[in-house]
Amino acid sequence: MEKVIGKIFLIVFLQMLVLGISGCGGEKHSSSISQTQLDSSRNPSTISSKSLNTTKSSSYQKAQAVPVLYYHSVMLEEGNEVRMPPDQFAAQMAYLQEKGYESVTLDQLYQALYKGGVLPQKPIVITFDDGYEDNYATAFPIVKKYGFTAAVFMVSSYIGGEGFMSWSQLRELSANGWEIEGHTVNHPYLSQVDKTTVLNELMNSKETLEEGLGKSVGFFAYPYGDFNADVAQAVKQTGYLMAFTTDRGWADLNLDEWHLQRVYCFANMGLNEFARRLQEPNY
Ligand SMILES: [Zn+2]
Repeated sequence: MEKVIGKIFLIVFLQMLVLGISGCGGEKHSSSISQTQLDSSRNPSTISSKSLNTTKSSSYQKAQAVPVLYYHSVMLEEGNEVRMPPDQFAAQMAYLQEKGYESVTLDQLYQALYKGGVLPQKPIVITFDDGYEDNYATAFPIVKKYGFTAAVFMVSSYIGGEGFMSWSQLRELSANGWEIEGHTVNHPYLSQVDKTTVLNELMNSKETLEEGLGKSVGFFAYPYGDFNADVAQAVKQTGYLMAFTTDRGWADLNLDEWHLQRVYCFANMGLNEFARRLQEPNY
């Protein structure tokens, strides 16, 4: 009898030991996550409590900050850093796949940041500004090869122009899960034009894209990353849900939805710099 009781005590003791260790491990894990977030956050208390709530999720997480990559053209042109050589672009997409990133749409990002939606463990958003034709001809097949989708911030007056995408190309991207979003009619510096022009640039481009694609256009990127408080207010007034700057950093829950930062990708940045920008929210 004593032996049986002894065995039971031993089992209970061992179980407590195991539970104790895993409990410790869990706490350490969550505290290390919140510390990482603390380093990169403007509002540490909000972030750390959110982190604690999400450490048990294995495949999905509440969004804190998500890297939103932005490109322009994907073609080879020596000395022009906004044109990403196709081989470098392909290497970056391969890197993302190899490291387990999953591309998410701007709509998924919006839901996750502001509506309590969930995202994959390693979310990434891929965006292109202006609507260059090589986005369709060159980037699209590469993005597709790696199982990703992307978004284009399209200047509406450029549609069908030389070097830019046509309606049929935009519709094909749209049918393949790409988002075609707002980037004004004429790509002005919005802080430099009058209020009526700002509103026309925002509204007319949104309507043109919505009519041409048969989908709602909810997201916007400021041309040249140029904005002020009035411009941001006009973007909101036009009915956009979220707007992106060209400021360095990840799209962060603690930033308001009219000033979301992005990760600039440029020719010859190299994979090390690309990787670094994916590891540091305030790179
Ligand atoms: Zn632009």
